Amino acid sequence: MFDVAAFKQQFPLLGHYPELIYLDNAATTQKPRCVLDAERAYYETSNANVHRGAHRLAVAATEAYEGARDTVARFLNAASSDEIIFTRGATEALNLLANTVGMLLSPGDEIIVSTLEHHANLVPWQMLAERRQLSILPLGITASGEIDLAELATFLARPRARLLAISHASNAIGSIQDIQAICDMSRQHNCLTAVDGAQAVAHLPVDVQALGCDMYVFSGHKVYAPTGIGVAYIHNKLLQRIPPWQGGGEMIETVAFSGTRYATPPGHLEAGTPPIAQAVGLAAALTWLAQQDRAALLAHETALHQQLEDGLRAIPGVVIHGQAAHKLSLSALTFGHVHPYDVAQFLDAQQIAVRVGHHCAQPLQQALGITSSLRISLAAYNTADDVARCLAVLADTLDMLN
Ligand code: PLP
Repeated sequence: MFDVAAFKQQFPLLGHYPELIYLDNAATTQKPRCVLDAERAYYETSNANVHRGAHRLAVAATEAYEGARDTVARFLNAASSDEIIFTRGATEALNLLANTVGMLLSPGDEIIVSTLEHHANLVPWQMLAERRQLSILPLGITASGEIDLAELATFLARPRARLLAISHASNAIGSIQDIQAICDMSRQHNCLTAVDGAQAVAHLPVDVQALGCDMYVFSGHKVYAPTGIGVAYIHNKLLQRIPPWQGGGEMIETVAFSGTRYATPPGHLEAGTPPIAQAVGLAAALTWLAQQDRAALLAHETALHQQLEDGLRAIPGVVIHGQAAHKLSLSALTFGHVHPYDVAQFLDAQQIAVRVGHHCAQPLQQALGITSSLRISLAAYNTADDVARCLAVLADTLDMLN
């Protein structure tokens, strides 16, 4: 039986603000004490630069950093740690993909981008398309807010479709895609798959080999780890073919005015001093998460989400956007003529933290016919009381504003 009170106690910020009801977990999660301790311990005992020092601290820092790469590889079940590239976050990881894998595409090639995508998995591909004379094919969604698989099949059959950019789970309406089936479809047409796992990793088990994706990215801070660290997984076959993107130290073998030889993968994709302490924090978070009963965490989140959406349906004037069969524990709401921003202000006054706006998914909101929504997103430290209180304050607020 999952003990939410014991789980919650591991998060110092939540102890610091006992009245806070934090329901903005899709934006960023709070951090467990062991992650904060790991970063601090790194700075107190192992801080040095990596890969080039001839002293013991540098060796310790390098071991910590490369050990973190091994931990991420195990977490994603990558075939090799070399397939893991550290970045500042999911956004930088997607820019890395567009600027490296994207360079394998030729003028006239097509990139399929789903309407569910966060701007981070659209704008870098648009920028690439402009530079390389590629086309973007916007992939539509069904009425329930899932990828339109019939349209995907049509797009994949086009001779120039080369790459599919798709999220494992939507940050704006929560739809979870059947990534394994989608990657299967893509592979049959020799189309590469870049999967944005920013929202999925904290909630769902991810096995990149089982999913069959070519690329998978996520941000540390959404999976109980620090900000400033992210990951791009790139399948080895693809990794060996792609050029570097940022130049500088660390990513080279030899440098001369007559020409520079790049480091072997994945080193050629990590220019400059990397986010070492953040990688250590990420490894601590993933190790800690792997020690939890993840099925129990997910069952707890799912039960809370059921409680939330049952309660929301009983409040007059609430519209829930996105009715996918498989959804993350998040709900996007509008309230008729009452603006979501006004509602969020009243919730904040009662110490209930939610997100409001376009959620970096403007094409999706255009498809839904809205310009803003209020998003409630749950994590495993949330409680049934959190949800009940949020529902009560929301009902009172709408009663007052209507
Ligand atoms: N992709 C998705 C689905 C997201 O939800 C986010 C952040 O909200 C990102 C990408 C970008 O992540 P970051 O801002 O950490 O780079």
